Amino acid sequence: MTAPLSGLNVLVTGATGAIGRAITVALAAEGARVGIHYGRDRDGAERLLRSIDGRGWCLQADLSSPGGATQLWVDAEAISGRLHGLVNNAGIRTEVSVEAPLPDWQSAWDREMRVNLLSAADLCKCAIAHFRRHGPGRIVNIASRAGQRGYSADALAYGASKAALINLTKSIAQSFGAEGITATALAPGWVRTEMAEAFIARHGEAAALAGIPVGQMAEPAEIGELVAFALRPSQVSLNGAVLDVNGGSYLR
Ligand code: NAD
Repeated sequence: MTAPLSGLNVLVTGATGAIGRAITVALAAEGARVGIHYGRDRDGAERLLRSIDGRGWCLQADLSSPGGATQLWVDAEAISGRLHGLVNNAGIRTEVSVEAPLPDWQSAWDREMRVNLLSAADLCKCAIAHFRRHGPGRIVNIASRAGQRGYSADALAYGASKAALINLTKSIAQSFGAEGITATALAPGWVRTEMAEAFIARHGEAAALAGIPVGQMAEPAEIGELVAFALRPSQVSLNGAVLDVNGGSYLR
């Protein structure tokens, strides 16, 4: 039986983070070649590439710089020839209080929006142009439950950036679906990553799990599996969906 993603080249941003690694491994397991984007962790990217038997490429770009995303796409296009999918996974979560001095507040918001939204939007722009030239393509944006239900006082920009990413996904789905360009978003609640472990270390496991009916955080592998599924060529009608991965902690 042919692997579902066989013959597809997919760019994954932030691939060296916990969720990005799981996405990369899942895509490779289903037959894709993966553009492994990293910001600083070149060794991690190369290790990841080896772990998928070299079926992909490592690509560096700083997504906090206004030209970073476009250059990344140009590099990915040059090395792969044809891209069939884009996974906007890179993200940051910056804490800044409403009491902070205005320059600190504004620089935190600028950076959050640049990495989580504007760079993702630039990559979507490049991907749409590429798919229009070369044939069908798919975009998967890693948003967050924070973008659906509002978020904590110390990280307002994070929730706002993820809400905008969800809206961008829906707009792409509506605007370009007829051209064979489809988009899906994932909205995870807590995922068991370094970020989650740091929260547990500070506040305890019970605080992290409170309000999650299934009593556990999502594993990164669950996200990887779902991204691979959303990229399957057979999943055309998933266009525009926002897939909740939160253990039942937010129902809508
Ligand atoms: P992580 O910090 O482990 O990974 C984030 C990735 O983004 C890293 O590879 C990092 O290098 C990259 N990145 C950040 N800033 C960058 C920059 N300026 N230039 C280039 N790359 C940059 O985090 P994670 O937990 O794996 O999160 C992955 C995605 O999932 C993020 O978009 C995050 O918002 C989202 N998410 C995470 C959780 C969670 O509980 N961990 C929950 C919901 C959504």
